Amino acid sequence: MAGAGQGADLTSLTAHDMGIGLRAGRFSSRELVSAHLDVAERQNQALNAWLAIDWEGALAQAYAADARLAAARADGSGRPRAVGHHPLLGVPVALKDLISVRGGPTTAGSRILEGYLAPYDAHITERLRDAGAVILGKTNMDEFAMGSSTEHSAYGPTANPWALDRVPGGSSGGSAAAVAASHAPLALGTDTGGSIRQPAALCGIVGMKPTYGRVSRYGIVAFASSLDQVGPFARDVRDAAMLLHAVAGRDERDATSAPVAVPDGLLALPDDDAAATILRGKRIALPREYFVAGMETGVEARVREAVAALESAGARVEEVSLPHTEYGLATYYIVAPAEASANLARYDGIRYGRHVAADPPDVLANYLRTRGEGFGREVKRRIMLGTYALSAGYYDAYYLKAQKVRTLIKGDFDAVWSAGFDAIVAPTSPSVAWPFGAKLSDPVAMYLSDACTLPVNMAGLPGLSIPCGLSDGLPVGLQFIGGPWQELELLRLARGYEAITATADWRGARPTSFAAADDSAVPSPAERVRR
Ligand code: GLN
Repeated sequence: MAGAGQGADLTSLTAHDMGIGLRAGRFSSRELVSAHLDVAERQNQALNAWLAIDWEGALAQAYAADARLAAARADGSGRPRAVGHHPLLGVPVALKDLISVRGGPTTAGSRILEGYLAPYDAHITERLRDAGAVILGKTNMDEFAMGSSTEHSAYGPTANPWALDRVPGGSSGGSAAAVAASHAPLALGTDTGGSIRQPAALCGIVGMKPTYGRVSRYGIVAFASSLDQVGPFARDVRDAAMLLHAVAGRDERDATSAPVAVPDGLLALPDDDAAATILRGKRIALPREYFVAGMETGVEARVREAVAALESAGARVEEVSLPHTEYGLATYYIVAPAEASANLARYDGIRYGRHVAADPPDVLANYLRTRGEGFGREVKRRIMLGTYALSAGYYDAYYLKAQKVRTLIKGDFDAVWSAGFDAIVAPTSPSVAWPFGAKLSDPVAMYLSDACTLPVNMAGLPGLSIPCGLSDGLPVGLQFIGGPWQELELLRLARGYEAITATADWRGARPTSFAAADDSAVPSPAERVRR
């Protein structure tokens, strides 16, 4: 029986250790999953990390995983992998609510998809089912993944488990908060301009945006199709690598998913002793433009300390220039809204999702009412920006120009790889988690929080954020950026950094609002914002 004490212990394990415990029969997937569902449910009032918690479905998947685990033990191998099972068998996972799960809700954080049930599984949902991972439910997000704070969700904001009056980052804020608060050891999000790395940084966990094309987008609600990528959240690098391994790979149904082999090395990252030596002799570039104006001094200090730690471990860090970085934001806010305006045209109130009839009803009036009521302010702002940038007469001046600058941004990175660097190291976010409302009335201030992550999406590269300390008691993220398809290399570097900082004081720090989040009388984030 899992008592309360054991339940708490189970949720604090890494996914890696959960897998080991499951295979050894120390606990069942049912116990593991119940322990997570309990805490998710109990803390959802305070955090609003979940839009749907699927008790029934999760327990059914857990029973099925337990049966597969028992069969593997019975055949004497004791190692489910030996009989073709993935190490995630029986391990819980949370999904951002824009990933389709057949028969379940998928709102993308929007009223316009309220009540919509996905008719099929996303490719990555199928992959998780094949691996035997247990899907706990769907997490909160900025509407259509547009935002950096999760305050643009139509279902109320998510709170940061480190400080309940602060944002968790966004747009995948629900996934990041759920993992930071141990509601799940693993979660999936999407990153179009920073939406995995930035919330990972603000919540003190690991988050990775893979190379564009590494993970299929089939069954993922589209925001900006040339930038969107799915990727993992976890509390350590090994776990993130395991989840990436489960979902990555070619899918015929997404023409942009690449036929590039997924390295099995993702499942064999070294332990601390071996990992500490990984950094020796690595050449790492430090782009001076990433220390952007307005960066908090505490953030800059933690990042510089991390760079010094990499150097002491034998890495050669050299300052470089990525001269087009300053145009990243402006070009992103042409390209992303342009693609979004096209993608969001499908929400017409006729084919699926919300339908609001006008009075008197008529096709155009219904369309305008449906979209007028169904979309929030930020989404409307993006649709207007995007349609403007694509309109006749402005296309060449804005969209075409932005695509050219995009090529220059990619060229900056190419020069770094040609010069023989193994990776780039940089801050993830210029600031730590900010109080609710602080950037809501100033869209540009909100947009600026992605200044260090956007260029990576523009160039299609893999990027990862890993905790590197605290500033004012709040987590700071360190970003590693790699060449195309270098996920394993990046994860190994991050694993090296994790190993050399394994005994740092801040490593032991846990989300400080944990006890407060357990109190059912605590106000919800939406109530807290209203006060
Ligand atoms: N914050 C950025 C935006 O609002 C990026 C969001 C994302 O990566 N989905 O567009």
